[in-house]
Parts: sequence; structure tokens; C-alpha cells
Amino acid sequence: MGGEGRAPAFEYAYGPPATPRLQGIYRRVRDADLLRRLPEVQAIDGMFALPRRVRYVTAECGEFGAFYRPDQTQVVLCYETLHTLYERGLEQQRALGQDEGYALRYTRANVRFIVLHETGHALVQLLDLPVTGRQEDAMDQLAAILMLRFAGLDETPHQVVGNLDMAANWMLSRSTGAYNLHAYADEHALGEQRYFNLQCLIYGTDPEGFAGMVDAGDLTAARAAGCARETRRASRAWVRLLLPHLAPGYEAYEDEAVRYLERSS
Ligand SMILES: [Zn+2]
Repeated sequence: MGGEGRAPAFEYAYGPPATPRLQGIYRRVRDADLLRRLPEVQAIDGMFALPRRVRYVTAECGEFGAFYRPDQTQVVLCYETLHTLYERGLEQQRALGQDEGYALRYTRANVRFIVLHETGHALVQLLDLPVTGRQEDAMDQLAAILMLRFAGLDETPHQVVGNLDMAANWMLSRSTGAYNLHAYADEHALGEQRYFNLQCLIYGTDPEGFAGMVDAGDLTAARAAGCARETRRASRAWVRLLLPHLAPGYEAYEDEAVRYLERSS
């Protein structure tokens, strides 16, 4: 599938933290070469004709977070985030009676989503992509679409949806439910809204297959009714935005994208 002219456009680095508490995470992430093992990031590395390289780094930030630095075209994933995600994964593992590996899977799924969201910010800047409406919502959509399209080859559709589900769970878990002006004015939607937006995208890929989501309260019937359309619109928009920027060697993707646009119109 294409990629003959593949030239890596991304760089990966692991910054040593100063805080002793984060050394363990740093070593694990570095030894596992975590950033190079994110399937979707690998899939799109080299795919677009970017004017500058994007550098992915893990770093100590002093607080929880992940962000894109436009001046350095750098996606930064904080060790503090990995720590917090793992803790949350352990909580969920206990609460849901999940197996031993759950917390790690939870962390990994969320890292994929978060890094793709930040990659979206990079693409918007570097390819000068138009975004109307709230950019943060658009980045969540792109992350979800990339996860649906470029999951690992060994992953089943069930696992792909499971990963997105864990990302949705994380958004919900960050909400205190006690909102104030800061939350309402924030560039991000409320945690609950980001959760339902993501659920809607999942549901929209296969309303029949995911009919149970409405019964389970993961989505309201009113929102669910429009999700197939919502999902199709979002992915068509992203395909159309990214299509003109495919790098040489990705003609197969171009053909696939054109077929998709014709099929889904
Ligand atoms: Zn963002």
C-alpha cells in the first residue's frame, strides 16, 4: 500500500527528567521506544509533504499535560501524564475487575489518542489547514478518525473501539462535574461533551453494531440518531483536507481516499 517514497518526517526523543519520581517512567518509555511504537503515528510518518519535521518528545513538564509547540514544531508528552494515566488505569482495572494488563493498555490507548490530537495541531499549522469552529473539537475528531483507520495490523475492530472507549473514559474521568466560568470559557469542550462526541464517532461507524451503547447510556437516543452522518462528515472533511498534502509515494492512499469520497457522498 504506497509508501515507496517514504521519507520519515518525524523525529522521536526522550528527555531525561530531573525528578527522581519520574525516572522509572522515563527508563521504561525510552527502553520501549514508546513514541516509535504508536501505530497511527508510524502510519502517517512520511505520509504528508510537511515543510518542517515534527519532533515528538517525552519530557518532565512540572505538571500534567501534553501540547504542541508551534515554534519548535514539537509534540510534547509529559511524564506526569503517563504517571496519571497509569494511576487512572489501575483504578479502572480494580473498579471493573479487569486483568493485570489493563492499566498499561489504558495508558497506551490514551497516549495514542493524546499524541494524535497534538499531531493534529501540528498538521493544522504546518499544512495551513482551515478549521472553523473549535479547533480542540476538530483535533479530537482527527485523533479518533486516525485511530479508526490506522490501528495496529494485529488489532481487531473490537480492540480499536476499546482503545477509543478508554480515551473517552479518560475525558469523563477528568471532569469534576462542578463547572465554573473557566470551564465554560475554555477552548476545550467540557469533559462530558468530549466524552459524548467521541462516543458518537464510535457509534457512527456502525450504528447497528453499537446499538447497545444507547441502551447502556453511553449515548442518548437523540444524539445517536445523527451520529452516522456526523462521523461521515467529519471523516470526509479530514480526508478532503489532507488529500492534497500526501507525499510522493502515497498514490495508493490517494486512490483509496478518492474512492472513499465517492462512496460516502
Ligand atoms: Zn488541543
